[in-house]
Amino acid sequence: MSNILAQIKPKIAGIISEDSYKTWIEPIEFVEYEDNKCVLMVPNAFFRDWVIENFEAVLLALLKDTTKAETKIEYVLKKEKRDDGKKGVFVRRSVPYNLFNPKYTFENFVVGSSNQFANAACLAVSTNPGKTYNPLFIYSGVGLGKTHLLNAIGNFLLKHGSANPEKICYITAEHFTNELINALRYEKMEDFRNRFRKMDILLIDDIQFIAGKERTQAEFFHTFNTLYDNMKQIVVTSDKFPADIENFEERLRSRFEWGLIADIQSPDIETKVAILNKKAENDNVNLPLDVAFFIASNTENNIRSLEGALIRIGAFASLNNSPVTIDLVKEVLGHIIKQKKKEITIDIIIKEVASYFSIKPSEIKSARRIRSIMQPRQIAIYLSRKLTGHSLVSIGDKFGGKDHTTVIHSIKKIEEEMKIKKEFKSVVEKIESRIKST
Ligand code: ADP
Ligand code: MG
Repeated sequence: MSNILAQIKPKIAGIISEDSYKTWIEPIEFVEYEDNKCVLMVPNAFFRDWVIENFEAVLLALLKDTTKAETKIEYVLKKEKRDDGKKGVFVRRSVPYNLFNPKYTFENFVVGSSNQFANAACLAVSTNPGKTYNPLFIYSGVGLGKTHLLNAIGNFLLKHGSANPEKICYITAEHFTNELINALRYEKMEDFRNRFRKMDILLIDDIQFIAGKERTQAEFFHTFNTLYDNMKQIVVTSDKFPADIENFEERLRSRFEWGLIADIQSPDIETKVAILNKKAENDNVNLPLDVAFFIASNTENNIRSLEGALIRIGAFASLNNSPVTIDLVKEVLGHIIKQKKKEITIDIIIKEVASYFSIKPSEIKSARRIRSIMQPRQIAIYLSRKLTGHSLVSIGDKFGGKDHTTVIHSIKKIEEEMKIKKEFKSVVEKIESRIKST
């Protein structure tokens, strides 16, 4: 197929802002399309990562629409220029560290109870870098806004701050690691150190990436100390709380705890709806409120997938010239709409266990102490603890007013039995899977 990218570029232009289009889409070049794979050429790895993170969902949707097939994208990087002087040595085109995603601003960040604290901390740091919270450590699950907030700090400082743009650095921990590896390989450690240690603001994304990488941790530790001693602002993000990052040096962990640690929780429905509305407005998608609620309550609590969903919906609606309705959403998102699971209750568990052993549910709840009933009862108690959110006390209540020590005893008993007897373990697992599929 000839240049399909040329066909979809104008459609993307209609969906995203002009700035983003010029920065991130225009430079992409088409290489080939074969076997449902579209090969695109991008300027560098950094660029590729941005495109994947921010535009791949829409690229895929449009490719699928154009080719009528599930299409994969492969990225190739433009050959880096050779330095003529030294044969065979590549001159790494150095990527500026202050290329912030123009969409990731504080203005575009919807604040709700889940992220209010992290947002406030980032704002404080932006208005007073190095003086309020240093270091600032932000952690959350994926897709909840860490990268957005880091970029918002950068964007804010570029626009309002007095900092020298050259001395604001945003870098992922992975990129930092790669730079270090390159510096080691080309014997450029001096450059590497100078570059990072002279920054005024160091924003490092996904620090958990350097866990287990001793050399990177050591280098980062020294960079950290230099900046910290000079009252330069350091902000790091992570998908885990410092103490929960495995294979992480203690001295680094404790330094993260010197400053402020802020987490971002999963958004509630209202925040998700507010985010959808804001994005819809930015992307010129007409999103009725009932549809927004439908999307918010049927997708994961991950804002990235929420956003991906909206982009796909918007693209689909605009390509088909149709309004955004719940039916359209069901059609476009069929595969990701969360399967609403029926809640597992203690009664369901008792019923399934009783039926497996051909006894009556009332016998399970009774106080009868014969083995043919006691063991099913203990299994039911064990599964109630495992599969429901009930406390030990309330489980005891549901099983005919037993106290919590009896409940604990039953659970222990089943756990031990499962450890030593394979057949018994598989019986319990079989019942568990029946309960889950009711
Ligand atoms: P993380 O780095 O925590 O994995 P990101 O910062 O990449 O998450 O966020 C994923 C997507 O969700 C981004 O496009 C971001 O703009 C968006 N997003 C996250 N939180 C918000 C929010 N509160 N308001 C608006 N957009 C948000
Ligand atoms: Mg991120």
